Amino acid sequence: MNDGRDRLRIAVQKSGRLSEASLDLLRRAGLAFRASRDKLFLYGENLPVDVLLVRDDDIPGLLVEGSCELGIVGRNVLDEQRLAGGEAAAPVALLDLGFGGCRLAIAVPDGGTIESIGDLAGLRIATSYPALLADWLRAQRIEAEVVLLAGSVEIAPRLGKAHAICDLVSSGATLAANQLRELTTVLRSEAVLAASPRPRGAAATQLVERLGARIAGALSGAG
Ligand code: ATP
Ligand code: ZN
Repeated sequence: MNDGRDRLRIAVQKSGRLSEASLDLLRRAGLAFRASRDKLFLYGENLPVDVLLVRDDDIPGLLVEGSCELGIVGRNVLDEQRLAGGEAAAPVALLDLGFGGCRLAIAVPDGGTIESIGDLAGLRIATSYPALLADWLRAQRIEAEVVLLAGSVEIAPRLGKAHAICDLVSSGATLAANQLRELTTVLRSEAVLAASPRPRGAAATQLVERLGARIAGALSGAG
């Protein structure tokens, strides 16, 4: 495919919220796999397609550099890296996959003084998604300070590091456990099938299209 490979590569989260559903979808699309000894690869047994098991954050980069032709990743990760990457070619989202649903939301301390998004002006907001948050603040014409935290964002207000947070939420239980209340949604997200923006040969392009169609078929069959 790229760099002289004759097999397609799909990047999938190695261990996390998207792993099981991603592999299950590929199996339902008709792929059969055998694990490599180091557990970094799953070799396709019935098609020239292998699965590379990686951290979800690495998936957009692997697609941009062309090390993988396809990937399954949250729209939140894809959009964050596209916004942070500026003008560089970005992966193309082909299909919404119907799992990994969550929202990137701004939350504030329960019973505090922040009642509307306008109240965020001049405050500090902690997040692991600085580009998505900055983009949303710009669109809302709110000037606030974005504080980058790699993890445990939900405890930032209690530590005095920020007045509010912008983090992924699904049930809301984590927010409630930290006495936080959701103020507004910045992005709705789910897992997507994304493709490399790199030009490929005819054989790879055909195989990507064929796999995309099989995955779409597996999704519509799942209803
Ligand atoms: P990795 O080790 O691969 O970097 P991670 O800790 O970044 O893993 P996970 O927590 O497994 O990632 O989440 C992967 C994706 O699952 C998120 O990027 C998001 O798209 C989706 N997701 C769904 N619900 C939630 C949630 N409640 N919290 C966080 N992510 C969620
Ligand atoms: Zn991650």
